[in-house]
Amino acid sequence: MRRAARIAIGFVALAAAAPRGQTNSPMNAIAEQYVKLVLAVGQHDAAYVDAYYGPAEWKAESERQKRPLADIDADAARAIQQAGAMPAASDEPSRLRHEYLVKQLQALRARVRMLTGGTFSFDEESAALYDAVAPTHPESYFQAALDDLSRRLPGNGPLIDRYDAFRQSFIIPKDRLARVFDTAIAECRRRTGAHLTLPAGESFTVEYVTDKSWSGYNWYQGNYRSLIQVNTDLPIYIDRAVDLACHEGYPGHHVYNALLEKTLVRDRGWVEMTVYPLFSPQSLIAEGSANYGIEVAFPGEERVAYEARALFPAAGLNPARAAEYYAVQNIVDRLSYAGNEAARRYLNGQIDRAAASAWLTRFALMSPPRADQRTRFMDDYRSYVINYNLGKDLVKQYIEAHGGGAAQPAKRWDIFGELLRSPRLPSGLK
Ligand SMILES: [Zn+2]
Repeated sequence: MRRAARIAIGFVALAAAAPRGQTNSPMNAIAEQYVKLVLAVGQHDAAYVDAYYGPAEWKAESERQKRPLADIDADAARAIQQAGAMPAASDEPSRLRHEYLVKQLQALRARVRMLTGGTFSFDEESAALYDAVAPTHPESYFQAALDDLSRRLPGNGPLIDRYDAFRQSFIIPKDRLARVFDTAIAECRRRTGAHLTLPAGESFTVEYVTDKSWSGYNWYQGNYRSLIQVNTDLPIYIDRAVDLACHEGYPGHHVYNALLEKTLVRDRGWVEMTVYPLFSPQSLIAEGSANYGIEVAFPGEERVAYEARALFPAAGLNPARAAEYYAVQNIVDRLSYAGNEAARRYLNGQIDRAAASAWLTRFALMSPPRADQRTRFMDDYRSYVINYNLGKDLVKQYIEAHGGGAAQPAKRWDIFGELLRSPRLPSGLK
């Protein structure tokens, strides 16, 4: 109840800040309807509404009156039609807004179809929900990376065991987790704050949890606050500290949400951004920018240098081995699309859960418990898996195509910040 009260107070402030005259525009009417439809779907799908900090009475109304999915779908179709009949906007922010609302509503309709028993192939589903289709890779593509890794980690046993043995020296002891994460978060915040203007008062809290199908989660609460949860079910290796601090925090999810709230909700009065439907194109931008943000914050060799200097000592690990660890991780990163392949085969019904787990162990080098956790994630979130690696690649391509390559770190921050403050969609990254 305390949380609801705080959200309501936040919205009064933003409504007062909304530009005059915009409140009754046709686009604002569609935006309001979109928010209410997302909240209505949330009554049928507990994971759907990932964040909401708009008017508390809209949420209360969606709970009071659980609308049938067929009615929600019909309203969404009508809203898409209305948006289609509106004249094209002349300025880019309005044009992006228009496209955003239509695509998000189309994705909502696809999710409703899934909730009413409709089935999609893996690629059809990702196109409908996330506005993108992941490339396919043959087993030989992953085998090449495995062969490189095998040369790097010589020995007689299976590669997964050699990799596991190698990684034993890079586990963060549980009693040092908080210290290591706090150190990484402070550094990521410092680096982000040097390039992006963060809203005054932004902050988050970190909680350590167990028994989840994900390894970390950012719950955005509005008013520039997030709750970040870290799952400690499985061993946490040193690379997770910067990954998590950047991905969930700075310049990842926390910053993305805070900048959307500041720039689009408060400054422009775009109410649609007060709700975040998880199964929607917005997630590809969120996950992709959160993953690419690691490279933005730590260009080139800066990450290894920083970790050897600060994080390895904080974790009680040998800093002289930091470069060696990341040389191995860079090879393993080439296996990231193996997770998509396993999900595609599993969700298309070509292989069962046990085979998906075995495939992940063989081609993505996941330990059996981690592979099992990943298949649980596939059950819960399905084709969402593409948002991490394909999302990162699309965001990276977009930023580099606009002049933000590795040789231009300051410009890269500018373009990255601009993307975080916009309603740009995955198909708009091409
Ligand atoms: Zn994420």
